[in-house]
Amino acid sequence: MIIILRKGSVKEDAQVILDKIENIGLKPLFLPGVERIVIGAIGDERLLETLGFDNFPQVEEVKPVLSPYKLVSRDFHAENTIVKIRDVSIGGHDIAVMAGPCAIEGEEQFLQAAKEVKKAGAKILRGGAFKPRTSPYSFQGLGILGLKIMNEVAKEVNMPTVTEVLEVADIDAVAKYADAFQVGARNMQNFRLLKELGQQKKPVLLKRGLSATLQDLLLAAEYIVAEGNQKVILCERGIRTFETATRNTLDLNAVPYLKMKSHLPVVVDPSHGTGIRSIVAPMAYAALACGADGLIIEVHPEPKNALSDGAQSQTPEQFQHMMERLKDFAQAAKRGF
Ligand code: PEP
Ligand code: MN
Repeated sequence: MIIILRKGSVKEDAQVILDKIENIGLKPLFLPGVERIVIGAIGDERLLETLGFDNFPQVEEVKPVLSPYKLVSRDFHAENTIVKIRDVSIGGHDIAVMAGPCAIEGEEQFLQAAKEVKKAGAKILRGGAFKPRTSPYSFQGLGILGLKIMNEVAKEVNMPTVTEVLEVADIDAVAKYADAFQVGARNMQNFRLLKELGQQKKPVLLKRGLSATLQDLLLAAEYIVAEGNQKVILCERGIRTFETATRNTLDLNAVPYLKMKSHLPVVVDPSHGTGIRSIVAPMAYAALACGADGLIIEVHPEPKNALSDGAQSQTPEQFQHMMERLKDFAQAAKRGF
């Protein structure tokens, strides 16, 4: 439920209502806006009706939030949320590009990839230390050693980092060595993991599940925000469809839809969305055209020799070229780059 106070109402007017919401066992939210104070109440809305807020003099309107997700919805928070990964903003005017190899394979490979993506203009460094592979026989990532390499390389190139956290037990290690958590597609509905990440201070890049609806994705984000961590970035990375020519079907509908329904930033991963290196760039351009706040791109110094996702990893040259062209698309979308 949203309770909108009249113009000119002050904190004390809100406090009376916040206390009443708390007293009946619901979660009160104080949401001061530029023009008006808005109050949220999370929980069983039927209880609220007994309080008759419509009749309070300071109340202009009482509105139910019809969507099943509340805190991540635009009804609760009209302005865009900007999430910062260290000093890089995502969700503001500028497009943020995260790039790096699928997996951290060793110091030399990761440093080389980091230098290349930085040179081309990427703002955030990606790379997996814990890899969720379809086959148990595929390279599973370097684990803690990978995190340490990430940390060292990040210092050397001075870039913030994002890396996947596969399970609750690894949260502390990832928080120690990286600047943002990535929740992979396969873990989007690992609710225990989401709740624990909700207790963390660092931002969370939440990737859409392989067969998750947009409502599922927003509810997964709600799990994190409801625990207190508002720094969530949504990521469209393609879904399973009947089409097998591409690895996944990049659902660009998701971008304007998520931006319409939620205040959270939205980024697109055309690498996993396509699975084919040569068509990553056109889908990245398309992502900016439909309103994405950023991109996450796999780049490998030698994709042929990559231990994971080589077929979709761009060469440094391809990445450089794409970044050049992205400037024009960003400009057309009236965004900074
Ligand atoms: C990745 O980013 O390398 C990855 C495993 O992504 P996803 O979870 O989207 O498959
Ligand atoms: Mn990958």
